[in-house]
Amino acid sequence: MPLIQCLDCGKLERNPVRGRCHDCHRKRRVASGYDSQEWGRCAKAFLTAHPFCDCGAPAKVAHHKFQGMRPTSRGGLDWRNLEAKCHTCHNRIAQSYRL
Ligand SMILES: [Zn+2]
Ligand SMILES: [Zn+2]
Repeated sequence: MPLIQCLDCGKLERNPVRGRCHDCHRKRRVASGYDSQEWGRCAKAFLTAHPFCDCGAPAKVAHHKFQGMRPTSRGGLDWRNLEAKCHTCHNRIAQSYRL
């Protein structure tokens, strides 16, 4: 596997996460609020209340309906802005964002 240069710090990484080294990926997650306790609690409660994805598979991800919304955004912890998704459907949405 070739080494990939991290988009943020330029470090060469053998196994990057979305184009970034693991340190930078973690920092971005922390900055976005996805590692916060508030989000963890919110997502867990949401998935308990909404256990299934639209496709009928068990939901695994509390997904923000609006592109670019994060736990730190205004309304980012509001259930009205969340959708319960399985990994397959969530990956499909994430792909469409990148197009
Ligand atoms: Zn980096
Ligand atoms: Zn699904």
